[in-house]
Amino acid sequence: MKRILSLLFLALMYGVGVSMGADSTLRLDYVLGVSAGKPVIMLHEAVKMPGWGGRCVNLDSAVAQGNGQVRVTDARSGKLLYVQPFSTLFQEWLCIPGSDTVGVSFEHTAEVPLPDGDAVVELLLFDRRGDVECRHVTRYSPADVMVREVKRPSVPMTVLHESDHQSPISVAILAEGYTEAEMERFYDDARKFVDEVLGYEPFCRYADRFRFTAVALPSGGSGVSIPHDGLWLDTPMGSHFDTFGMERYLTAPRIWDMYTAADAAGAVHIMVLANTDEYGGGGIFNSYALTAAHTPQVGPVAVHEFGHSFGGLADEYFYEGEVIDDTYPLDVEPWEPNITTLADFGSKWEADSASEMYEGGGYRAKGIYRAAYDCRMRTNESPAFCKACSAWLERMIRYLTEE
Ligand SMILES: [Zn+2]
Repeated sequence: MKRILSLLFLALMYGVGVSMGADSTLRLDYVLGVSAGKPVIMLHEAVKMPGWGGRCVNLDSAVAQGNGQVRVTDARSGKLLYVQPFSTLFQEWLCIPGSDTVGVSFEHTAEVPLPDGDAVVELLLFDRRGDVECRHVTRYSPADVMVREVKRPSVPMTVLHESDHQSPISVAILAEGYTEAEMERFYDDARKFVDEVLGYEPFCRYADRFRFTAVALPSGGSGVSIPHDGLWLDTPMGSHFDTFGMERYLTAPRIWDMYTAADAAGAVHIMVLANTDEYGGGGIFNSYALTAAHTPQVGPVAVHEFGHSFGGLADEYFYEGEVIDDTYPLDVEPWEPNITTLADFGSKWEADSASEMYEGGGYRAKGIYRAAYDCRMRTNESPAFCKACSAWLERMIRYLTEE
């Protein structure tokens, strides 16, 4: 009895600690930019809303390092409550020589389970060596009247693939550049994506853990912007080709609006289908994937981009000859699970011998290795993910859905 009273006394004195409500979301919208040659993070707005579309298990462990992390800790005890790794287009921009002298900004959104007490939300960006390069701290209190409560937006949508899992992996498929009159075509495109991705190992084996919802966000005009053709259109997420001067790199700058659309579906995994027959796409870990919906290669490209956004998988392709990218320092083991510099190979996939590795990957012909000759993350012709990617995706699915 004395022990129980002591514990009760301690609980009253210190509180029982903050926990994460699985039924509400804290959303933080940030601006990422460069000031005086250094990356900076600024908070634009924090809101809370009912429902939580992310994982309900393994909240305090990160499955991968990512290029950045959002971390929530108990303000009093410092205990880690939630961590989510991610990558950003902003950090790809920082890899371009001279970018630190240009005053541009990028939107970023982090969604975390709503803490039921005082908490600290940190947004961290890592440099190419994995060290913290930039940090932003927000102190959250349930009593803070400036964190307003918003409703989840109401957008026409259809659940295309339902899950009866207790905490399913919820994916929002967003329409980009489809007019109201083209929504049947969007739903058709979204169904094709679901069929395609669930046709791959390991997704097919875990299909019952996924929920896919198609969100019919209408666009004023039909198509997306193609700057190299002089075409600019006003679409919900502002998607355009020619990102960083690469014609095929299709990205969307309006991240806040994108997340608002995904919020309608209660999802944190985002696949954007762009209503265009121009070849291209892009995928950013725990941010979003975007693909042109009407090219002959849409199936493999969409799954490749989903491999980036859902799995954090690296590109396994590379350019012969001159190294044109400095994304991966060769003396650091990349956190991405499907390429290695051999700097810390023991942390990577199991290979019976070095002969099972192939040189070239992560945009470099030399010094970076992949686990198989071909893979969905290397070419559109590969019929499947390689063994390293498949094993990792299975690990990711189980991490998101199992204790
Ligand atoms: Zn692979």
